[in-house]
Amino acid sequence: MRPRIGVTASVRLERSGVRRVFVNEPYLRAIEAAGGVPIVIPPGHEPETLRGLYELLDGLLLTGGEDVAPERYGEALLYPDLVQVVPERDATEFPLLDRALADRLPILAICRGVQVLNVKLGGSLYQDLARDRPGAFPHNQAGTTPRHEPTHPVTVLPGSFLADIVGAEQLLVNSLHHQAIKALAPSLFPVAYAPDGVIEGVEATDPAPSAFLLGVQWHPEELVGHDPPARRLFDSFVAACQKPR
Ligand code: MN
Repeated sequence: MRPRIGVTASVRLERSGVRRVFVNEPYLRAIEAAGGVPIVIPPGHEPETLRGLYELLDGLLLTGGEDVAPERYGEALLYPDLVQVVPERDATEFPLLDRALADRLPILAICRGVQVLNVKLGGSLYQDLARDRPGAFPHNQAGTTPRHEPTHPVTVLPGSFLADIVGAEQLLVNSLHHQAIKALAPSLFPVAYAPDGVIEGVEATDPAPSAFLLGVQWHPEELVGHDPPARRLFDSFVAACQKPR
């Protein structure tokens, strides 16, 4: 049986007045290509519904998207013009992640996902890299470079779980984020950095052999077509979801 992997979606109010659930297709295709069955998890469910969905899952993919509400890491909203929050998405992903962590479900956290993971475990975020972290280079290639093209290198910590998986200590990655990890959660370890020092990858400090817990700030789902390390990331995640819990 192919492992079933929850892929978190978002919701927005369209100009027509309808509220529409959406998720970027490359996440679904990357899971499928690695041998998994993607199950889209929209925000806004009642707890009982969410529990029902959760019970279907062998793994959890936290996707990219909007910003985590700053109150979740104890800060006031600094830039209402830049920080885009979807409270119902937070309200779905945080409890989902809580259960997945408790059950040691394999978790791959991408972009916003790694930010959700860090905040859930007690860390904080730069609300806007350009304003809050002088010296950070542009990390958002949207509008200038296609999403599937790398724009900056990352250095991967030798000997880390991530290095094992991708099989490299230098990667070229895409970059589509305006926020990043500020204070790292105590139970996470930084395993990849951009040249400006921004944390681009995290894993658990005490990985149990059965657990897969990895977060990356870039978008491997957009790279899998031409980037073997990105493909290995999805392959090993889906393989981890295949193991009986
Ligand atoms: Mn970046």
